Amino acid sequence: MTNRATDVVIIGGGAAGAGAAYYLGQRGIKVTILERESIGSKASGFNAGGLNPLEGHGWPEPLQPMALQSFNLHQDLWGSLPGKTGIDYHGRLSSIIKVALDENELPELRETLQIFNNAPEPGFSAEWLEREDVLALEPRVTPHALAGVRAVGNGALDGLEFTEALGVAAQQVGAEVVTGTAVGLRLGNGRVEAVVTDDGEIPCGALLIAAGPWCRNAEPWLDIAIPVDPLKGQIIRMKPDGPGLDHELTGGGSSMYNKPDGLIWCGATEEEAGFDLSLTDEARESVTAKAMRLMPSLTNAEVALHTACLRPVTPDWLPIVGQAPGWENVYICTGGQKKGILLGPAMSKGIAEIIADGETGISLDGCDPARFNS
Ligand SMILES: Cc1cc2nc3c(=O)[nH]c(=O)nc-3n(C[C@H](O)[C@H](O)[C@H](O)COP(=O)(O)OP(=O)(O)OC[C@H]3O[C@@H](n4cnc5c(N)ncnc54)[C@H](O)[C@@H]3O)c2cc1C
Repeated sequence: MTNRATDVVIIGGGAAGAGAAYYLGQRGIKVTILERESIGSKASGFNAGGLNPLEGHGWPEPLQPMALQSFNLHQDLWGSLPGKTGIDYHGRLSSIIKVALDENELPELRETLQIFNNAPEPGFSAEWLEREDVLALEPRVTPHALAGVRAVGNGALDGLEFTEALGVAAQQVGAEVVTGTAVGLRLGNGRVEAVVTDDGEIPCGALLIAAGPWCRNAEPWLDIAIPVDPLKGQIIRMKPDGPGLDHELTGGGSSMYNKPDGLIWCGATEEEAGFDLSLTDEARESVTAKAMRLMPSLTNAEVALHTACLRPVTPDWLPIVGQAPGWENVYICTGGQKKGILLGPAMSKGIAEIIADGETGISLDGCDPARFNS
């Protein structure tokens, strides 16, 4: 590897790193993405692609404003990136049908009804569905369903193509993608001078660590805490023996994501299994059993693909986005947890603005890396 000088080196080419490269490149900042496999090769390429900015772990505070900002950024991006890059990642507005199969699922339905009908921005709404309404919308749902809610205004996309589009768009505004693994840093005077890779050094004016659940590898390099841990998720992609779904569908512990190619992605598991990415029979059986309980005709479906990937999760489930404590030119962008695709544009635009301007208009309340280093 040549000793290229570059303004910002980003470790990690997932949605966080590729997004930051795009937003930095738009500001005229020279960026190198250092990615050990390929753009979107980890969670950013294997997630379900659901964009629900109103519900999730840690909602509504303090993530709510950031989630809505990010959702709006997604809509800007899906209006521009496919045209710029030639990659159609099917960014779209969507709807969810939540079904209760047991009495104990009814409160969650009522909560969703409340949340969507009281959303802080227009475009969201929900309606209560009796069993026959559910079956009229999707006749393949089990006739044992008790009731449902149809919520509209959320979004969806294809995660791999989205991340690849960010990577291509970043290169169009000057970023370079280098295949290699960061193995250390060359330090001097409270600054990082270069990223040490398995194939030489890349000098840098600033470093952005966006390595998903592998960010902890940088803890000993910088003597700071970056407490992000992997939460494994396995998804089963099913090919029904009929049309795909028109809506995202949940109930009985199953989540089904409708895809434009007619596949139904079912999942996902949540496993504390370290960095293990093996595909297990246990996960396949439990995910498909729950899916078939909700939609019995899936008994005739083929398993088209079984995947596993790792969500980057922090102890408080809030992302880590900002300047690394004690380091003049080091930044961190990670911890998107189960919502890292939804939150990706806000996280990456936010960190790009912090690097470029020292401040951002993105709401990053609760995300300061210093909270784990006092
Ligand atoms: C099953 C599942 C379903 C999900 N569904 C959704 C969903 O519906 N909606 C949603 O919003 N989110 C979802 N997510 C979460 C989302 O996928 C993640 O939060 C997000 O992709 C994390 O992006 P990232 O860029 O931070 O990390 P990653 O995608 O993990 O990218 C990090 C990159 O860093 C690279 N890297 C690591 N170490 C080094 C090194 N030393 N040198 C060079 N490169 C390195 C890796 O190879 C990797 O490509 C889901 C996740 C899972 C697992």
